[in-house]
Amino acid sequence: MSVLIYIELDNGSIKKTSLETVAYGAKVAELTSTTAVVLALGSAESTELEKAGHYGAAKVLHAADGKLDHENNLAYADALVQAAQLEGSKIIILPKSGLGDAVAARAAAKLKAGIVSGVTALPDTSSTFKVTRSIFTGKAFAVTEITSDIKVLVVRKNAVEIDESSLISTSATIEPFNPSLRDSDFQATVVSVEKADSELSLTEAEIIVSGGRGMKGPEHWQPLVDLAKALGAATGCSKPVSDLDWRPHHEHIGQTGIKVAPNLYIACGISGAIQHLAGVNGSKCIVVINKDPEAPFFKAADYGIVGDVFEVLPKLTAAAKSLK
Ligand SMILES: Cc1cc2nc3c(=O)[nH]c(=O)nc-3n(C[C@H](O)[C@H](O)[C@H](O)COP(=O)(O)OP(=O)(O)OC[C@H]3O[C@@H](n4cnc5c(N)ncnc54)[C@H](O)[C@@H]3O)c2cc1C
Repeated sequence: MSVLIYIELDNGSIKKTSLETVAYGAKVAELTSTTAVVLALGSAESTELEKAGHYGAAKVLHAADGKLDHENNLAYADALVQAAQLEGSKIIILPKSGLGDAVAARAAAKLKAGIVSGVTALPDTSSTFKVTRSIFTGKAFAVTEITSDIKVLVVRKNAVEIDESSLISTSATIEPFNPSLRDSDFQATVVSVEKADSELSLTEAEIIVSGGRGMKGPEHWQPLVDLAKALGAATGCSKPVSDLDWRPHHEHIGQTGIKVAPNLYIACGISGAIQHLAGVNGSKCIVVINKDPEAPFFKAADYGIVGDVFEVLPKLTAAAKSLK
């Protein structure tokens, strides 16, 4: 009876958000006095999957069937259910993402499990099994009790603190796993994936530098891009900026865009409307640069710089470069 953790791979590499999910699952296993087992679906090198051990997993069940290389929530849910049955798992943990939510919902229905999505902290197992989840696009938290025998948790980024320096040196053992896959799961399959560009993914980025209408226009974006480059950060923007075509739509962050949870979010010339905050309030540290000291974003900021972005950004870039 183990805690089963489903992870997502990107071209054979474990996504960073999934490594966090492994760390979360390992802590849950510790709390419930059992072991943490990871399920990896699709092609990946053993040396990559062994990394799950550094985050606390004892074993990785690896279904290496090439049919699982492309995202397929039907097949993934089938494989997850079979892995849970094989392991006798009562707690199943997935990272929060479009795919993670879809797989979790299907697997929970098949296992007649209670499911909570958007989990932000470790469960309280002191008497019953309670989890805290984020609601109202991150503006409030709800404590939810799960009473079913099997429990499925879909975990948000930053739900546990990972100290990279204290990772375990032990590698996870890799065990081949051959779920029986139904042809009907593959009636619609992804044939190929072409990424828009080679930029860092916003959902995986540890640092994001984001710009709003205060950046004045697309021709003025270079200082922001320079800071992002110096910090190894992804770039994002507010909704009006993408609506105006100053920046591509995939950079739009907020309630109606991408929800991000980096370690550091630097907002440049963004006012901090609630719809924007709804997409960034999972960030560990928020730095706001705005020339208006009354800008609402300052209330949500860990650090604030009152100033003109075009003066502040080059100074931050120079400081970041000198630190390197
Ligand atoms: C249903 C709905 C959904 C929405 N969804 C989203 C969403 O997902 N994401 C989103 O971002 N918005 C969303 N919005 C829009 C949101 O309400 C705000 O209008 C938007 O976030 C404002 O964008 P902004 O901060 O870039 O622009 P502004 O509100 O115009 O703010 C610009 C800021 O830049 C500052 N500034 C100006 N010049 C400088 C300078 N030189 N140096 C420093 N600071 C400067 C100003 O003081 C100001 O605070 C949504 C709105 C609705 C109604």
